[in-house]
Amino acid sequence: MKNHPAICLINPWATDFAAHDLWSKPLGLLYIGSILKKAGYSVSLIDCLSYSYSSPGFKFPSRTRFGNGHIRMQQIEKPEILASFSRIFYRYGIAVPDFEKQLNELKKTKIPDAFLITSQMTYWYPGIRFTADIIREHFHGTPIVLGGIYPTLCPEHAIENFQDCTVIPGQFDQNCLDQIDDLTGYNSNFKVPTTLDDSPYPAYELYPQLDSIALLTSRGCPYNCGICASKILQPNFEQRNINHIIDELETYKENYGVTNFAIYDDALLSNPGKHIIPLLERVIKADFKVNFHVPNGLQVSDITHEVAQRLRKAGFKEIRLSFEGFGTERVFKKPVSEKAFTGAVEALRKAGFRKNQLRAYIITGLPRQDIDMLFDSILLTHRLGVRIELAYLSLIPGTPGFDEYREFMSYPIDREPLLHNNTLWNWRFDEPFKWEKKLRELVRYLNSNQREGNIITSNNNIVKDLIQGGKNA
Ligand code: SF4
Repeated sequence: MKNHPAICLINPWATDFAAHDLWSKPLGLLYIGSILKKAGYSVSLIDCLSYSYSSPGFKFPSRTRFGNGHIRMQQIEKPEILASFSRIFYRYGIAVPDFEKQLNELKKTKIPDAFLITSQMTYWYPGIRFTADIIREHFHGTPIVLGGIYPTLCPEHAIENFQDCTVIPGQFDQNCLDQIDDLTGYNSNFKVPTTLDDSPYPAYELYPQLDSIALLTSRGCPYNCGICASKILQPNFEQRNINHIIDELETYKENYGVTNFAIYDDALLSNPGKHIIPLLERVIKADFKVNFHVPNGLQVSDITHEVAQRLRKAGFKEIRLSFEGFGTERVFKKPVSEKAFTGAVEALRKAGFRKNQLRAYIITGLPRQDIDMLFDSILLTHRLGVRIELAYLSLIPGTPGFDEYREFMSYPIDREPLLHNNTLWNWRFDEPFKWEKKLRELVRYLNSNQREGNIITSNNNIVKDLIQGGKNA
């Protein structure tokens, strides 16, 4: 039996038409890293989407004062099935020589007994393949394990396209650790925790440098919306013990000195009296002097005056609201009414959030989406002085929304995850969304006026032309 075998965790490159970093970190992989350490493994990490490994003198794309921003990208050839699509395709992440430099370092320090590659969007699989191929060139016979979202949502595709890897779909559990033990010849004899409260904190110490932290105060979502992967990826909704969350925040603040924390919960405001309100009260009392961000969007109907005031006092810098828009109740289990949306914005404004600190996600690309209602949602958001963020639908296998798309699509969305890409469904692949260009122009126009403090009404000629143009497209 081996003594403390070595595992290298890999967050692979992303391949896409567009990508932006909203304080994202491979949280699942970092949790696995800390569990493996507890189980006796020696663990290292290469995060291809991090700026941490850039060569001296290399200029990473500029970031905002809150630590988010662009990701380094390199134009690459489009996969054949996307050839007719008139946008440039990129590989996002660190330079290839920087990745290879990290692999060479491993050869000098501790040669891994296995690599664990995580995955995010299903349509980023070419980036994972590229990553696995480079690892293979450097470490011929070393086992590579592939897990994360892609094999969980598309297990057959992953097994077929990663035959040289051990593909493990689903959440990391005892069975996964047993398989890793088998591959490395180690008997960890360790019981994998089943809740976040029992898990060690994510292994951020594996990064050479950090400018922000992503964390979870809960896992999963109590709802099960027809286009969302949350229930498939995390069947149970769990909210963490507040003492643990505060302890985790203190640990990060002390050890890494970071000031930007992104909370990646799917349902941060659920059970407010038992979770977010007491949590924010503890955060306010502790006076962490850090910035909090909520890239996933907050549930509109749970934003009361009580919640809004505490969010402001606790240091939330910008609020993203999951408005989604009118006419979306067919897919969203908690649709937002005009009254609820207006009430939430009023509560946030009263709590001291400025208009330029408020954004609202509006979904576009739903099967058979009502265009009039979409434009109404956009105009209402603008009237309230809130910045509009169009959220383009990605196709999620295993959801009713995916089945609905499959019914009227001639594209092989079942067999080809590249076709799940949110950019495609709003551009030119599908007739109903020909108007998307006008939609984007409208949003750009309204948002630039919002920045200047102007409110544009539906009587404005530019708005009228763009809406009419969109409908006629
Ligand atoms: S509320 Fe949001 S996270 Fe929860 S299931 Fe619906 S879309 Fe997904």
